[in-house]
Amino acid sequence: MKSIAVLGSSGSIGQSTLAVVRSLPRQFKIVALSVNSDIVKLKQQIREFQPKLVCVRDPRAAAKLRASLGSSIKVFCGPEGLDELVKDKNIQQVMVAITGSAALAPLISAIKSGKEIALANKEALVMAGAMVMRLAREHKVLIRPVDSEQSAIWQSLGGQGAANVRQVYLTASGGALWSLPRSKFKQVTIAKVLRHPRWKMGKKITVDSATLMNKGLELLEAMFLFNLGVEKIKVLIHPEALIHSMVEFNDGVIMAQLSVADMRIPIQYALSYPKRLPSALAGIDFYGLSKLHFAKPDLSKFPCLAFAYQAARDLGTMPAVLNAANEASVDRFLAKKISFLTIPKIVEKVMRRHTRIASPNLNQIMCADAWAREEALALAC
Ligand code: MG
Repeated sequence: MKSIAVLGSSGSIGQSTLAVVRSLPRQFKIVALSVNSDIVKLKQQIREFQPKLVCVRDPRAAAKLRASLGSSIKVFCGPEGLDELVKDKNIQQVMVAITGSAALAPLISAIKSGKEIALANKEALVMAGAMVMRLAREHKVLIRPVDSEQSAIWQSLGGQGAANVRQVYLTASGGALWSLPRSKFKQVTIAKVLRHPRWKMGKKITVDSATLMNKGLELLEAMFLFNLGVEKIKVLIHPEALIHSMVEFNDGVIMAQLSVADMRIPIQYALSYPKRLPSALAGIDFYGLSKLHFAKPDLSKFPCLAFAYQAARDLGTMPAVLNAANEASVDRFLAKKISFLTIPKIVEKVMRRHTRIASPNLNQIMCADAWAREEALALAC
C-alpha cells in the first residue's frame, strides 16, 4: 500500500488522481491533501479519504478547518505549511498537481525529502527545469511525468537514454481552433476557445491548447525531463489524440504510446510505475477507427509555438519569461480585457524586452517571472 499526498486536490488532475486511488483501494492510500481555496471540495475529500494532513492557503480558512476537524487531522496553511507537509515521513509519493509557479517550492521540498514524485505541473520544469532535474539527480529521485505527452515519451523510451534517440514526436490535438481559418481568429470568443475537442481540462490550459502555447511549454518540459536538445523535438498535430507522443531511436525504430484520451491513464502509471495495474477504462477500438491524421503545425498561424521554440533555444531565464508573460496574457483574455490575437503579441514583446540571464539561480528565475508578469499586465491595459 503506497501512501500518497495530492497537492492541488480540488483541481482537474487532483480529482482524477483521487478517482484512480478510489478505484485501487488496496494499492494506494491518501495521507495528505492540499487545496488553494476550495474548502467545500476539500471537506468532501477529507470525509471520503480520511487523510492525516491537509493544507489550505488562507490562514483564516485553516483556523476554521482546525476547529471543525478536531485533533485527528493536522491542518497546515500557506506556502510554508505546504513545504512542511510534503516532508512528512508518512508520505511516500507526492502528486504535484498545483498549477502555476506555486508548485516550484513544494516540488523542491519533496525532492529534497527523497519522496517519489508524480509531476503534473508544467511551470516548475519550464521555469526551473535545469535546477529541478539536477536536484532530482542529487537526491536520486525519479520524476514520473503525468502530462500525457511526457508520460508517453517516458513510456516509449523504456529506460533508454537521450543518446539513443534520433527524434521525438510531441503530438498535439491542435486545440479548439486548429481547423478555423486564421482570418476568423480576430472574432474568436472565450467560449469557442474553451471548447477543446479531445480533453476536458482547466481553463488556462485549454486556452494554451488553442494558441499551441501548451505544446510549447511541453517542448520545454520534454527537453528537461529527458535531457533532449530542442532540435530533437518535433511537434506533430494529431487531431484524434490517440497517439500521445512517439520516440524515434537511432536505428529508425519508432515507439509510440496509445490510449484513450483520459488523464486517469497517465496518472495511474505515475502512481503504479513500474507496475501496470488494472483499469476500468477501455482501450482503443481499432476496428471502429478508419484513419489517424497528422499535420505539421503552421507557426505563422500559431506564433506562440514559435516563441516557445525561441525560448527553448535561448534557455536561461527566457522560458520563465515566456511562461509568465503567457500566463498573465491568458488571464487578461479570460477576464475579457484583451482579444485572442493579443496574447501572442504580448508574449513576443515581453520576450524581446527581456535581458536574459544564462545560468540563473532560483531567485533570478522568480525575479524574471515577476518582471514578465508586470510587463505583460502593463501591455494588456
Ligand atoms: Mg499535455
